[in-house]
Amino acid sequence: MAKCHSARLFPPCTTARLFFEGLKAYKHADGQVSVFRPDKNAIRFNKSAERLCMPELPEEIFVQSIAAVVDIDREWIPSKAHHALYIRPVMFATDPFLGVQPSATYKYIVMTGPVGPYFSKILRVKVETNFTRAAEGGMGYAKAAGNYGGAMLASRQAAKEGFDQMIWTDAKEHKYVEEMGAANVMFVLDGTLITPSTRDTILDGVTRDTVLALAREWGMPVEERRVSVAEILEGAKNGKLTDAFGAGTAATIAPVGSISHDGEEYFLIDPKEREFSQKVLKTLDAIRYGEVADTHGWNYLV
Ligand SMILES: *Cc1c(COP(=O)(O)O)cnc(C)c1O
Repeated sequence: MAKCHSARLFPPCTTARLFFEGLKAYKHADGQVSVFRPDKNAIRFNKSAERLCMPELPEEIFVQSIAAVVDIDREWIPSKAHHALYIRPVMFATDPFLGVQPSATYKYIVMTGPVGPYFSKILRVKVETNFTRAAEGGMGYAKAAGNYGGAMLASRQAAKEGFDQMIWTDAKEHKYVEEMGAANVMFVLDGTLITPSTRDTILDGVTRDTVLALAREWGMPVEERRVSVAEILEGAKNGKLTDAFGAGTAATIAPVGSISHDGEEYFLIDPKEREFSQKVLKTLDAIRYGEVADTHGWNYLV
């Protein structure tokens, strides 16, 4: 039967375990190509694999596989400002088996595609207090497909209400900020850069880590801790919240224009007047596109 045949070509494992990574290759003005911090993605790739009972990859094989694909796709990397080659490594289970158990066979593939800026506008976001992205003991820290499938209905609902993104909150009380869509979320409150500390409900973002490192170098006070929705809304009201943005490879630094909670919308200062996120975005771009010396060793040259 045709159905059995296609099942053979692409065997469906009932448990359908799939996880992925996301990173970018950038073209410098002199034609050099670099991938941003792929060693960090290699570590996270293996954390996801471990959580899903899937095989880990030696870090150097992960990095080399990416370099090999980027090398082949070199001509596909756009040289326009803010453009890059998005790289999507994926691993999935392939056992043709219906029971719920770890697969014995897997496929690891690397896909790419040229991309422009992800968000071209200032985001109107809502604090999500109904749906949950990740709970303690769950797999929010893994880049597992299930996490994103589970978020889609919430995204669609938010879009219907006119929002671009939602700020996820903790599963228990919906009182603490966790992430923003599929990016980490960061704030400048009373001169301090604050962001939720990583734990099992939060994806340990490479962009987040990079922004924190830069802020610390610049001598800015930084706090990784529980961040309550109440303090953010209070800051928006009294003007002490001077910056709010999503941080991720796809999103880069995505400015939040307003935050809505319980039907009330709180507007933040004009993104063009935000000192920190402007500086961070400029610096990140300058490093990634090779316009300044890469003193941190973040660019992996291909
Ligand atoms: C990928 C992702 C991020 C951002 O991670 P980067 O390494 O900075 O790209 C943040 N949150 C979630 C849920 C993600 O899937």
